[in-house]
Amino acid sequence: MQAEVLSVGTELLLGQTVNTDTTIVAKALSALGIDLLYAAVVGDNVGRLEKAVYDALDRSDILITTGGLGPTGDDLTKETVAAAAGKKLVLHEQSYQHLLDYFANGGMTENQMKQAMLPEGCTALKNDNGTAPGCAFRTDKGKIVIMLPGPPSELTPMLHNYAVPYLEKFQSAVIASHSVHVYGRGEAPVAQMIEDLMEQSNPTVAPYAKEGEMFVRVTAKAATKEEADAMCVPVVEELKKRIGNFVYGVDVETLEELVVSELKKAGKKLATAESCTGGMLAKRITDIPGSSAVFETGCVTYANCVKERLLGVPHETLVTYGAVSEQTARAMAEGIVRESGADIGVGITGIAGPDGGTEEKPVGLVYIALSDGKNTWVAKRQPMGRLKSREWHRHCAASKALDM
Ligand code: ATP
Ligand code: MG
Repeated sequence: MQAEVLSVGTELLLGQTVNTDTTIVAKALSALGIDLLYAAVVGDNVGRLEKAVYDALDRSDILITTGGLGPTGDDLTKETVAAAAGKKLVLHEQSYQHLLDYFANGGMTENQMKQAMLPEGCTALKNDNGTAPGCAFRTDKGKIVIMLPGPPSELTPMLHNYAVPYLEKFQSAVIASHSVHVYGRGEAPVAQMIEDLMEQSNPTVAPYAKEGEMFVRVTAKAATKEEADAMCVPVVEELKKRIGNFVYGVDVETLEELVVSELKKAGKKLATAESCTGGMLAKRITDIPGSSAVFETGCVTYANCVKERLLGVPHETLVTYGAVSEQTARAMAEGIVRESGADIGVGITGIAGPDGGTEEKPVGLVYIALSDGKNTWVAKRQPMGRLKSREWHRHCAASKALDM
C-alpha cells in the first residue's frame, strides 16, 4: 500500500513550526511496511486543501492528514477532507461525551462542539491528551483516510495507540531496517565501495550523511518481521566486510552512546581535557544516561597557564611546540589521567577558527590524544579543503576523540 501525508497549517509554511508530525508519521508507516510516496504541506486554505486531498486520493491508497482538527475558525481539515471524500459530518456521541468530561469543571465554549462532529461511519480515534478526536474511514473507492491532530503530544499517542492498529488490519508486509554506522569515511567514498549493493531492491541499501559521519541503511520487506530481519543479515555482514574498520556499530544511536557502553563493559573510567572543543566532548558523553558510571571529570583548559597548572603540561612544551601541537595534546591526555585517576584520558587542542589560523597551523587543525597512563596515541585532524564553521571543527574533533 502506498501512502501520502498532508500536513495542514499556515504556520508550517511560514517557517514558524518545524514539521515534526510528518517525521513521526513517516517513521510509523515505515515500521508498518507502508511506502510513503508523498509528504506535502498546505496552508489553512479550503481551496488548496481540497485540491491537495483530491490529488492524494487519486494517486495514493492511504491519506493521512495532520493538524487543523481543533475548535477554531482556521481548523478546516475535517470539513474539507470529509467533503472531498464525499462524507457528511455527524455528531459523534462518544466524542461529545469526551468533550463534556474534559470540560467537567467548566470552560467549554460553543465552538468546542465542532470537534465532536466526525465523518459519518468513521472510526473515531480518541485523543488521550487533548480535546480534538482524530478519525479514520474508507472512501467509496476503498481509499483509507486518517486525520490526526497537529500538536505532536496529541498526534503521537493517537497514532501509535489507535491509527497504527487501524492500518495494521489492511497491511500485508512488514519492513525491517538496520543501519551500519561509519566514522572516518564519507558518504561518497562509501557509496563507491557498495555501488552494486545499492542497485538491489529487497533489501534496499542506501547511504546517508550525518554530521561528520555517515551510515548505510539496509531495508527489507517481508511477510513477517523475522523474515525481513533475516533478509538484512547477509547484506549487513557484506557491508561490514567491505567498509571494514570504519564501521563502528550496527543499529547504534551515536558514537557517544557506543563509547559509554564499551567503557561500561570494560569497567573503565574516562576523563577529558579539552581546549578548542570547550567541553563539547564531555557534554556529548554526559548526554548519555548512565554515563556517571564511566565518566570521571572533564576540564576545559583554555589558557596555557591552566594547561600548565591543572594538567602539568610543561612550560617548555608550550613554548617550543605551541598550544596546538602533538606534544601539547599528548601532555594534556597524560596530565588528565594522572590528575583524575581515570583509566583513560583524552586531550584535545586545535584551532576552531574562524581567526587564528596560519599557513603552518590552519583553522581546523586539531590534535587529539588518548592515554591510558602507559601509552599515548595522538591523531591529527587536518582541515578539509572546504571552508567549514567553528562549530563543525569542534564537533568533528569531539567525534574523532570518540572514535579513538
Ligand atoms: P488544536 O486543537 O491544538 O488547534 P489542531 O489539530 O487544530 O490542534 P493545528 O491548529 O493545526 O492543530 O496546530 C496546533 C499546533 O500544533 C500548532 O500551533 C503547532 O504548534 C502544532 N503543529 C501543528 N502541525 C504540526 C506539524 N506538522 N508538526 C509539528 N507541530 C505541529
Ligand atoms: Mg488548531
